[in-house]
Amino acid sequence: MNIFNEMESEVQSYARSFPVVFNKAKDCFLYGEDGKRYIDFLSGAGSLNYGHNNDALKQALLEYIAEDGITHGLDMHSAAKARFLEVFRDKILQPRDMEYVLQFTGPTGTNAVEAALKIARKVTGRTNIISFTNGFHGCSLGAVAATGNQHHRGGAQVSLNDVDRMPFCGYYGRDVDTIKMMDKLLSDPSSGIDKPAAAIVEAVQGEGGLNVASTDWLKALQALCKKHDILLILDDIQAGCGRTGTFFSFEPAGIEPDIVTLSKSLSAYGLPFAVVMIKPELDKWLPGEHNGTFRGNNHAFVTAAAAIEHYWSNDELETDIKEKAKIVSARFKKIAETHGETTLRLKGRGLMQGIDCKTGELAAKVCAKAFENGVVIETAGNHSQIVKCFCPLTISVDALNEGLDKLEQSFAEVFEAEKLKKAS
Ligand SMILES: *Cc1c(COP(=O)(O)O)cnc(C)c1O
Repeated sequence: MNIFNEMESEVQSYARSFPVVFNKAKDCFLYGEDGKRYIDFLSGAGSLNYGHNNDALKQALLEYIAEDGITHGLDMHSAAKARFLEVFRDKILQPRDMEYVLQFTGPTGTNAVEAALKIARKVTGRTNIISFTNGFHGCSLGAVAATGNQHHRGGAQVSLNDVDRMPFCGYYGRDVDTIKMMDKLLSDPSSGIDKPAAAIVEAVQGEGGLNVASTDWLKALQALCKKHDILLILDDIQAGCGRTGTFFSFEPAGIEPDIVTLSKSLSAYGLPFAVVMIKPELDKWLPGEHNGTFRGNNHAFVTAAAAIEHYWSNDELETDIKEKAKIVSARFKKIAETHGETTLRLKGRGLMQGIDCKTGELAAKVCAKAFENGVVIETAGNHSQIVKCFCPLTISVDALNEGLDKLEQSFAEVFEAEKLKKAS
């Protein structure tokens, strides 16, 4: 029995898929204690968009620590926070013509979602929230109520109230206009849908299976929210910070959500850090009304600011992501063609792509084989049927191709084994 099985709760999840002890990581590579190298196509579920121990960010953090910069300061003003706020304003908000104030919440994504739901309810005076099929928003009670996943919902052990579920873009197939359905339900005083405070949505559903909301659908959702006086919360915790090719996943749709949540790769270094972006006119919080000891992580301020300066001051990274996304699409297309496009379907956009294997069983086999072959990769989707490729955005083209070679080989090996099993 190892120390993890002895001491750690059964709640462990990722550890079960990758039963080795990791002790070192650099850029897109993870290393086991035995020295085996793995290409990281999981990237901390989207928390390591800039890879592990990225040199540019590490240097900034080492210098900050060496100078005895503030590590913990509640929500007091610090030089590191000032710098992050300035850089976020100057490099992220202003060039996109966006105006928001930032609320630093507790350091995980679900903390940001809780705060977003709370402020939306406070501002509108309504309790109901609309969320979407296959949406994932976190595991604390407010966020898990808005989450679709049965496994996570069941873990709550209390009734999950004040949320109505609506069909996401394409949920009933391409020909069904789910916005029109929602409009009818919201317009009918006897539909049974209480007027909501907000709708919370991901532009590309991460855990839910790389389901992409079309730009038309997002635009229509925003228009619908405006028409019915509902706030639009865009949960960009996983799809944001460049994952889909632009800093915010909703940029191509040209929408302007009332509230945006960010976490996962915001710190850029894998440090816990979460933010709620609130339209200034909605910032009705009273001082300390939503409080917390760890709001705003100073080390994360340092690395987040460094990442924005380094990667988002020009469009180099964006161009680079688009190039790599094309490589992934082409290679996935080849894998699907080789093994029958009816069996394998491509999902996602940007560097948020995956292959739908139809069954969770097949997807799990591919991921297990990939791990044997030196690639750390996980599944997503309502049946865990999607093999989800989340390489660091900064991965070299060589390493990307090496990882994709290994993934392609893993698909081939699994399909070969399945054929033999059927034949025997
Ligand atoms: C991961 C995730 C969350 C929750 O973040 P945690 O840090 O795990 O609490 C919320 N929303 C989305 C879209 C996510 O992917």
